[in-house]
Amino acid sequence: MRPAHALIDLDALRHNYRLAKGLSDARVFAVIKANAYGHGALECAQALAPEADAFAVACIEEALELRAAGISQPILLLEGWFEASELPLIAEHRLWAVVHDQWQIENLLTTTLTEPLHIWLKLDSGMHRVGFAPEEYPKVWRQLASSAQVASLTRISHFSRADEPDTGRTEEQLATFMRATEGLKGPASLCNSPGVLAWPQAHNDWLRPGIMLYGATPFGFPQEYADRLQPVMQLESRVIAVRELPPGEPIGYGSRFITARPTRMGVVAMGYADGYPRHAPDGTPVLIDGQRSQLIGRVSMDMLTVDLTDLPGSGLGSAVRLWGTGLNASEVAAQAGTIAYQLFCNLNRVPRRFT
Ligand code: PLP
Repeated sequence: MRPAHALIDLDALRHNYRLAKGLSDARVFAVIKANAYGHGALECAQALAPEADAFAVACIEEALELRAAGISQPILLLEGWFEASELPLIAEHRLWAVVHDQWQIENLLTTTLTEPLHIWLKLDSGMHRVGFAPEEYPKVWRQLASSAQVASLTRISHFSRADEPDTGRTEEQLATFMRATEGLKGPASLCNSPGVLAWPQAHNDWLRPGIMLYGATPFGFPQEYADRLQPVMQLESRVIAVRELPPGEPIGYGSRFITARPTRMGVVAMGYADGYPRHAPDGTPVLIDGQRSQLIGRVSMDMLTVDLTDLPGSGLGSAVRLWGTGLNASEVAAQAGTIAYQLFCNLNRVPRRFT
Protein backbone atom coordinates (compact mmCIF):
# COMPACT_ATOMS: atom_id res chain seq x y z
CA MET A 1 0.00 0.00 0.00
CA ARG A 2 1.16 3.52 -0.74
CA PRO A 3 2.54 4.86 2.54
CA ALA A 4 0.94 8.34 2.33
CA HIS A 5 -1.79 8.83 4.94
CA ALA A 6 -3.30 11.34 7.37
CA LEU A 7 -3.60 10.21 10.98
CA ILE A 8 -6.44 12.04 12.72
CA ASP A 9 -6.17 12.19 16.51
CA LEU A 10 -9.67 12.66 17.88
CA ASP A 11 -8.36 13.07 21.46
CA ALA A 12 -6.40 16.09 20.26
CA LEU A 13 -9.61 17.45 18.71
CA ARG A 14 -11.38 17.07 22.05
CA HIS A 15 -8.44 18.70 23.85
CA ASN A 16 -8.64 21.72 21.56
CA TYR A 17 -12.42 22.02 21.90
CA ARG A 18 -12.05 21.93 25.71
CA LEU A 19 -9.39 24.63 25.51
CA ALA A 20 -11.91 26.90 23.75
CA LYS A 21 -14.61 25.97 26.28
CA GLY A 22 -12.31 26.75 29.18
CA LEU A 23 -11.58 30.31 28.11
CA SER A 24 -14.97 31.75 29.10
CA ASP A 25 -18.55 30.92 30.02
CA ALA A 26 -19.66 31.22 26.41
CA ARG A 27 -21.14 28.27 24.60
CA VAL A 28 -18.97 26.91 21.81
CA PHE A 29 -19.78 25.80 18.29
CA ALA A 30 -17.43 23.27 16.74
CA VAL A 31 -17.00 24.66 13.23
CA ILE A 32 -16.79 21.52 11.08
CA LYS A 33 -17.63 22.91 7.67
CA ALA A 34 -15.70 21.75 4.59
CA ASN A 35 -15.46 18.19 5.90
CA ALA A 36 -14.12 19.50 9.23
CA TYR A 37 -11.40 21.44 7.40
CA GLY A 38 -10.40 18.22 5.66
CA HIS A 39 -10.32 16.13 8.86
CA GLY A 40 -13.56 14.18 8.29
CA ALA A 41 -16.80 15.86 9.38
CA LEU A 42 -18.67 12.78 10.55
CA GLU A 43 -15.82 11.37 12.60
CA CYS A 44 -15.06 14.77 14.14
CA ALA A 45 -18.74 15.43 14.91
CA GLN A 46 -19.14 12.01 16.50
CA ALA A 47 -16.00 12.48 18.58
CA LEU A 48 -17.27 15.82 19.89
CA ALA A 49 -20.96 14.92 20.13
CA PRO A 50 -20.94 13.98 23.84
CA GLU A 51 -19.65 17.43 24.82
CA ALA A 52 -20.11 19.97 22.01
CA ASP A 53 -22.75 22.64 22.58
CA ALA A 54 -23.46 22.86 18.86
CA PHE A 55 -21.92 22.49 15.41
CA ALA A 56 -21.51 24.98 12.57
CA VAL A 57 -21.29 24.17 8.87
CA ALA A 58 -21.44 26.20 5.67
CA CYS A 59 -24.53 24.81 3.97
CA ILE A 60 -27.51 22.52 4.27
CA GLU A 61 -25.84 19.58 2.49
CA GLU A 62 -23.20 19.48 5.22
CA ALA A 63 -25.84 19.74 7.97
CA LEU A 64 -28.02 16.96 6.56
CA GLU A 65 -25.06 14.61 6.48
CA LEU A 66 -24.61 15.20 10.20
CA ARG A 67 -28.30 14.71 10.93
CA ALA A 68 -28.31 11.46 8.90
CA ALA A 69 -25.41 10.26 11.08
CA GLY A 70 -27.47 10.92 14.21
CA ILE A 71 -26.00 14.24 15.34
CA SER A 72 -28.74 15.84 17.42
CA GLN A 73 -27.12 19.09 18.61
CA PRO A 74 -28.10 22.42 17.10
CA ILE A 75 -26.36 22.96 13.75
CA LEU A 76 -25.81 26.49 12.48
CA LEU A 77 -25.70 27.15 8.74
CA LEU A 78 -23.05 29.87 8.51
CA GLU A 79 -24.23 30.99 5.08
CA GLY A 80 -27.92 30.41 5.73
CA TRP A 81 -29.71 29.13 2.65
CA PHE A 82 -29.23 29.58 -1.05
CA GLU A 83 -32.78 28.91 -2.30
CA ALA A 84 -36.25 29.26 -0.74
CA SER A 85 -36.83 25.54 -1.33
CA GLU A 86 -34.30 24.78 1.45
CA LEU A 87 -36.40 26.49 4.13
CA PRO A 88 -38.82 23.60 4.90
CA LEU A 89 -35.81 21.29 5.30
CA ILE A 90 -34.14 23.79 7.63
CA ALA A 91 -37.30 23.80 9.77
CA GLU A 92 -37.76 20.02 9.62
CA HIS A 93 -34.16 19.31 10.69
CA ARG A 94 -34.12 22.04 13.35
CA LEU A 95 -31.18 23.86 11.80
CA TRP A 96 -30.22 27.37 12.82
CA ALA A 97 -29.59 29.75 9.96
CA VAL A 98 -27.59 32.90 9.40
CA VAL A 99 -29.45 35.61 7.49
CA HIS A 100 -27.16 38.07 5.78
CA ASP A 101 -29.09 39.52 2.88
CA GLN A 102 -32.51 41.00 2.07
CA TRP A 103 -33.36 38.27 -0.46
CA GLN A 104 -33.23 35.70 2.34
CA ILE A 105 -35.70 37.74 4.39
CA GLU A 106 -38.10 37.90 1.45
CA ASN A 107 -37.82 34.09 1.11
CA LEU A 108 -38.38 33.61 4.82
CA LEU A 109 -41.42 35.85 5.07
CA THR A 110 -43.16 34.32 2.04
CA THR A 111 -42.54 30.59 2.65
CA THR A 112 -44.92 28.43 4.65
CA LEU A 113 -43.03 26.68 7.43
CA THR A 114 -44.02 23.90 9.82
CA GLU A 115 -42.25 25.73 12.62
CA PRO A 116 -40.53 29.08 13.07
CA LEU A 117 -36.76 29.31 12.56
CA HIS A 118 -33.89 30.28 14.84
CA ILE A 119 -32.24 33.12 12.96
CA TRP A 120 -28.72 34.50 13.37
CA LEU A 121 -28.83 37.98 11.88
CA LYS A 122 -25.49 38.95 10.39
CA LEU A 123 -24.08 42.42 10.84
CA ASP A 124 -21.37 43.70 8.53
CA SER A 125 -19.25 45.25 11.26
CA GLY A 126 -16.40 46.02 8.88
CA MET A 127 -15.31 42.91 7.04
CA HIS A 128 -17.49 43.95 4.09
CA ARG A 129 -18.19 40.46 2.86
CA VAL A 130 -21.75 39.63 3.89
CA GLY A 131 -24.18 41.08 6.43
CA PHE A 132 -26.47 44.06 6.89
CA ALA A 133 -24.92 47.49 7.17
CA PRO A 134 -24.94 49.03 10.68
CA GLU A 135 -27.51 51.68 9.63
CA GLU A 136 -30.05 49.15 8.38
CA TYR A 137 -29.43 46.42 11.00
CA PRO A 138 -31.87 47.60 13.72
CA LYS A 139 -34.70 47.98 11.19
CA VAL A 140 -34.15 44.48 9.77
CA TRP A 141 -33.91 43.08 13.30
CA ARG A 142 -37.27 44.61 14.26
CA GLN A 143 -38.87 43.34 11.06
CA LEU A 144 -37.77 39.78 11.87
CA ALA A 145 -38.55 40.09 15.57
CA SER A 146 -42.16 40.81 14.74
CA SER A 147 -42.53 37.83 12.37
CA ALA A 148 -44.23 34.61 13.42
CA GLN A 149 -41.75 32.79 11.15
CA VAL A 150 -38.92 33.63 13.58
CA ALA A 151 -38.49 31.66 16.83
CA SER A 152 -35.41 33.53 18.09
CA LEU A 153 -32.87 36.11 16.94
CA THR A 154 -29.13 36.16 17.64
CA ARG A 155 -26.67 38.92 16.75
CA ILE A 156 -23.74 37.66 14.75
CA SER A 157 -20.74 39.24 13.02
CA HIS A 158 -17.30 38.15 11.85
CA PHE A 159 -13.80 39.56 12.40
CA SER A 160 -11.47 40.21 9.49
CA ARG A 161 -8.18 40.74 11.34
CA ALA A 162 -8.48 39.21 14.81
CA ASP A 163 -5.23 37.34 14.16
CA GLU A 164 -3.37 40.68 14.01
CA PRO A 165 -3.51 42.24 17.48
CA ASP A 166 -2.21 45.70 16.70
CA THR A 167 -4.13 46.92 13.68
CA GLY A 168 -7.00 48.50 15.62
CA ARG A 169 -9.46 46.84 13.22
CA THR A 170 -10.92 44.39 15.74
CA GLU A 171 -11.58 47.21 18.23
CA GLU A 172 -13.32 49.14 15.44
CA GLN A 173 -15.45 46.14 14.51
CA LEU A 174 -16.38 45.60 18.16
CA ALA A 175 -17.37 49.25 18.55
CA THR A 176 -19.46 49.08 15.37
CA PHE A 177 -21.11 45.90 16.65
CA MET A 178 -22.00 47.49 19.99
CA ARG A 179 -23.35 50.62 18.32
CA ALA A 180 -25.42 48.85 15.67
CA THR A 181 -26.96 46.29 18.03
CA GLU A 182 -27.51 48.58 21.04
CA GLY A 183 -30.85 47.90 22.67
CA LEU A 184 -31.51 44.77 20.58
CA LYS A 185 -32.25 41.91 22.94
CA GLY A 186 -30.66 38.61 21.98
CA PRO A 187 -27.46 36.62 22.36
CA ALA A 188 -24.34 37.63 20.44
CA SER A 189 -21.55 35.81 18.61
CA LEU A 190 -18.40 37.35 17.15
CA CYS A 191 -15.39 35.16 17.67
CA ASN A 192 -13.63 32.87 15.24
CA SER A 193 -10.44 31.11 16.50
CA PRO A 194 -8.24 34.21 16.84
CA GLY A 195 -11.15 35.95 18.57
CA VAL A 196 -11.53 33.02 20.97
CA LEU A 197 -7.81 32.93 21.72
CA ALA A 198 -6.93 36.62 21.89
CA TRP A 199 -10.06 38.77 22.28
CA PRO A 200 -11.81 37.75 25.54
CA GLN A 201 -13.67 41.07 25.59
CA ALA A 202 -15.48 39.93 22.44
CA HIS A 203 -16.50 36.48 23.63
CA ASN A 204 -20.16 37.23 24.34
CA ASP A 205 -22.55 34.25 24.28
CA TRP A 206 -21.34 31.95 21.51
CA LEU A 207 -17.83 31.22 20.20
CA ARG A 208 -17.23 29.85 16.71
CA PRO A 209 -13.74 28.28 16.63
CA GLY A 210 -12.69 26.40 13.51
CA ILE A 211 -8.97 26.21 12.77
CA MET A 212 -7.93 26.04 16.43
CA LEU A 213 -9.97 22.84 16.89
CA TYR A 214 -7.62 21.19 14.42
CA GLY A 215 -4.57 22.36 16.35
CA ALA A 216 -3.25 24.95 13.92
CA THR A 217 -2.50 28.38 15.28
CA PRO A 218 -4.18 31.28 13.50
CA PHE A 219 -1.30 33.55 14.56
CA GLY A 220 2.05 34.17 12.96
CA PHE A 221 3.67 34.45 16.41
CA PRO A 222 3.71 32.51 19.70
CA GLN A 223 0.52 32.99 21.69
CA GLU A 224 -0.28 31.82 25.21
CA TYR A 225 -3.35 29.71 24.37
CA ALA A 226 -2.59 28.85 20.75
CA ASP A 227 0.66 27.30 21.92
CA ARG A 228 -1.33 24.79 23.96
CA LEU A 229 -3.23 23.45 20.96
CA GLN A 230 -2.49 19.91 19.82
CA PRO A 231 -2.23 19.12 16.09
CA VAL A 232 -5.06 16.80 15.11
CA MET A 233 -3.65 15.75 11.74
CA GLN A 234 -0.33 14.02 11.14
CA LEU A 235 0.28 14.02 7.38
CA GLU A 236 2.80 11.26 6.88
CA SER A 237 4.52 9.11 4.30
CA ARG A 238 7.86 7.38 3.67
CA VAL A 239 11.03 7.73 1.66
CA ILE A 240 10.59 5.45 -1.38
CA ALA A 241 13.90 6.10 -3.20
CA VAL A 242 17.33 7.61 -2.44
CA ARG A 243 19.82 9.21 -4.87
CA GLU A 244 23.42 10.32 -4.28
CA LEU A 245 24.10 13.36 -6.44
CA PRO A 246 27.32 15.36 -7.01
CA PRO A 247 27.32 19.18 -6.85
CA GLY A 248 25.77 20.97 -9.81
CA GLU A 249 22.98 18.45 -10.55
CA PRO A 250 19.37 19.57 -11.00
CA ILE A 251 16.49 17.87 -9.14
CA GLY A 252 12.93 17.53 -10.45
CA TYR A 253 10.72 19.46 -12.87
CA GLY A 254 12.11 22.68 -14.20
CA SER A 255 15.49 21.92 -12.59
CA ARG A 256 14.49 24.41 -9.92
CA PHE A 257 16.95 23.07 -7.36
CA ILE A 258 20.63 22.58 -8.26
CA THR A 259 22.78 20.69 -5.75
CA ALA A 260 25.46 22.90 -4.20
CA ARG A 261 27.28 20.00 -2.50
CA PRO A 262 27.38 16.21 -2.62
CA THR A 263 23.73 15.53 -1.82
CA ARG A 264 21.79 12.53 -0.63
CA MET A 265 18.28 13.12 -1.84
CA GLY A 266 15.17 11.21 -0.73
CA VAL A 267 11.98 10.78 -2.76
CA VAL A 268 8.78 10.83 -0.67
CA ALA A 269 5.41 9.38 -1.71
CA MET A 270 3.43 12.62 -1.37
CA GLY A 271 2.56 15.14 -4.05
CA TYR A 272 0.20 17.87 -5.04
CA ALA A 273 -2.47 15.29 -5.95
CA ASP A 274 -2.51 14.48 -2.23
CA GLY A 275 -3.01 18.14 -1.42
CA TYR A 276 0.58 19.01 -0.58
CA PRO A 277 1.08 22.54 -1.98
CA ARG A 278 2.85 22.49 -5.34
CA HIS A 279 4.09 26.02 -4.76
CA ALA A 280 6.03 25.02 -1.59
CA PRO A 281 9.53 26.41 -2.19
CA ASP A 282 12.92 24.79 -1.64
CA GLY A 283 13.59 24.95 2.09
CA THR A 284 10.02 24.14 3.18
CA PRO A 285 10.47 22.10 6.39
CA VAL A 286 9.68 18.39 6.69
CA LEU A 287 10.42 15.90 9.46
CA ILE A 288 12.41 12.79 8.52
CA ASP A 289 12.48 10.20 11.31
CA GLY A 290 11.56 13.07 13.62
CA GLN A 291 14.40 15.35 12.48
CA ARG A 292 14.02 18.54 10.51
CA SER A 293 15.00 18.61 6.90
CA GLN A 294 13.66 20.40 3.87
CA LEU A 295 12.25 20.20 0.36
CA ILE A 296 14.73 20.34 -2.49
CA GLY A 297 13.13 20.53 -5.92
CA ARG A 298 9.63 21.17 -7.18
CA VAL A 299 6.71 19.13 -5.80
CA SER A 300 5.35 16.63 -8.38
CA MET A 301 1.87 15.12 -8.58
CA ASP A 302 2.70 12.02 -6.52
CA MET A 303 6.19 12.64 -5.14
CA LEU A 304 8.35 15.25 -3.55
CA THR A 305 12.07 15.37 -2.88
CA VAL A 306 13.89 16.08 0.39
CA ASP A 307 17.45 16.56 1.57
CA LEU A 308 18.83 13.61 3.58
CA THR A 309 22.48 14.72 3.42
CA ASP A 310 22.71 15.81 7.06
CA LEU A 311 20.63 12.89 8.38
CA PRO A 312 23.03 9.95 8.15
CA GLY A 313 20.64 7.54 9.89
CA SER A 314 17.83 8.12 7.41
CA GLY A 315 17.23 6.49 4.05
CA LEU A 316 14.91 4.18 2.21
CA GLY A 317 11.75 3.62 4.27
CA SER A 318 12.39 6.53 6.62
CA ALA A 319 9.24 8.00 8.17
CA VAL A 320 8.32 11.44 6.81
CA ARG A 321 5.95 13.88 8.46
CA LEU A 322 4.79 16.72 6.24
CA TRP A 323 2.94 18.44 9.08
CA GLY A 324 1.64 17.54 12.53
CA THR A 325 3.38 17.23 15.90
CA GLY A 326 6.77 18.96 15.78
CA LEU A 327 5.94 20.79 12.56
CA ASN A 328 2.78 22.88 12.72
CA ALA A 329 0.81 23.08 9.47
CA SER A 330 0.81 26.87 9.94
CA GLU A 331 4.60 26.90 9.60
CA VAL A 332 4.49 24.86 6.38
CA ALA A 333 1.68 27.08 5.10
CA ALA A 334 3.63 30.26 5.81
CA GLN A 335 6.58 28.88 3.82
CA ALA A 336 4.27 28.00 0.95
CA GLY A 337 2.58 31.41 0.96
CA THR A 338 -0.78 30.07 2.11
CA ILE A 339 -2.64 29.27 5.33
CA ALA A 340 -3.12 26.02 7.25
CA TYR A 341 -6.86 26.23 6.44
CA GLN A 342 -6.08 25.74 2.77
CA LEU A 343 -3.55 22.96 3.34
CA PHE A 344 -6.13 21.00 5.33
CA CYS A 345 -9.03 21.65 2.98
CA ASN A 346 -6.99 20.70 -0.09
CA LEU A 347 -6.15 17.29 1.29
CA ASN A 348 -7.05 14.70 -1.30
CA ARG A 349 -6.47 11.01 -2.07
CA VAL A 350 -4.58 10.22 1.16
CA PRO A 351 -6.56 7.84 3.38
CA ARG A 352 -7.54 9.22 6.78
CA ARG A 353 -6.96 6.95 9.75
CA PHE A 354 -8.65 7.87 13.00
CA THR A 355 -7.23 7.23 16.43
N1 PLP B 1 -17.44 31.88 11.77
C1 PLP B 1 -17.60 32.11 10.46
C2 PLP B 1 -18.75 32.94 10.01
C3 PLP B 1 -16.69 31.61 9.53
O1 PLP B 1 -16.85 31.84 8.24
C4 PLP B 1 -15.60 30.83 10.01
C5 PLP B 1 -14.58 30.29 9.10
O2 PLP B 1 -14.29 30.73 8.05
C6 PLP B 1 -15.48 30.60 11.37
C7 PLP B 1 -16.41 31.14 12.23
C8 PLP B 1 -14.30 29.83 11.93
O3 PLP B 1 -13.12 30.54 11.68
P1 PLP B 1 -11.68 30.01 12.19
O4 PLP B 1 -11.45 28.76 11.42
O5 PLP B 1 -10.75 31.09 11.85
O6 PLP B 1 -11.84 29.76 13.63
